[in-house]
Amino acid sequence: MIRTSVFPRRYLQGAGALHQLGPELKRLGNKVFALIDQFVVDQVTPYLADLTEVSVVRHPFTGHCTHATIETIAAVARQSDATVLVAFGGGSVLDVGRSAAAAAGMAFVSAPTIAASDAPCSGISIVYDDKGVMSGRLTLRNPDLVIVDTALIAKAPVRFFVAGIGDGLATWYEAASCRRSHSATISGFTGTALAHAAAQLCRDTILDRGRQAVADCRAHLATPDLDAVIEATVLLSGIGFESGGLGAAHAIHNGLTMLPQTAKFMHGEKVAVGLLASLFLSERSD
Ligand SMILES: [Zn+2]
Repeated sequence: MIRTSVFPRRYLQGAGALHQLGPELKRLGNKVFALIDQFVVDQVTPYLADLTEVSVVRHPFTGHCTHATIETIAAVARQSDATVLVAFGGGSVLDVGRSAAAAAGMAFVSAPTIAASDAPCSGISIVYDDKGVMSGRLTLRNPDLVIVDTALIAKAPVRFFVAGIGDGLATWYEAASCRRSHSATISGFTGTALAHAAAQLCRDTILDRGRQAVADCRAHLATPDLDAVIEATVLLSGIGFESGGLGAAHAIHNGLTMLPQTAKFMHGEKVAVGLLASLFLSERSD
């Protein structure tokens, strides 16, 4: 039986991690195209304005990850002559950035400013149609760098962080069901022991430290508990879902996205509903 794991090439996390942007980007190229979620332009610009190691073209972004958006951003990025694309923001911006970088043949840097899902480390982009219904999935390269500034994430509304916990909590249950059924993962084959260990550590960290981390995030404090849970929901869950496999929780989520009433809920919130439903389906104990 062939097993597989995929990873980002490099991962940096901590309060003030974005202060390392210059030397980190320089490892990948000299000219950078920065795709910045409109909501965080003010927060991110100071980290880009004074970079001496690389030159930066900034491009504010608002919208969803659709095929049309990906093509537009890829065209603008190509015109910039940059060889590195760095995306700052939430899942939509990261997915657009990852897809546009692939289309334009550029290195990709994922810089999440919220921890609302396990998408930042992955090589997967979820594509939606104009009505916000999930229409497909692009399997691309994993990021060349993921840089997670926990001080920035602590400043974001706590709802995002809680949604990330919902997405992360499902990871071990879904990986375990893939292991039991010898199901293939998104990466093509069955999962590795490392992916399952990452998923288990993700679940244990959330259960042990999640409650305190949520309180800390609500108070906008970048504490060790918040730091540990961000590592769980971004890095461990990222490796866990992509190399351990997805199951009923995400399948139910995908179905929910077809109902207009669920449009106002975040990915991780719908996955959490899917996780609870899947536990009922499999007749788990209370
Ligand atoms: Zn997910």
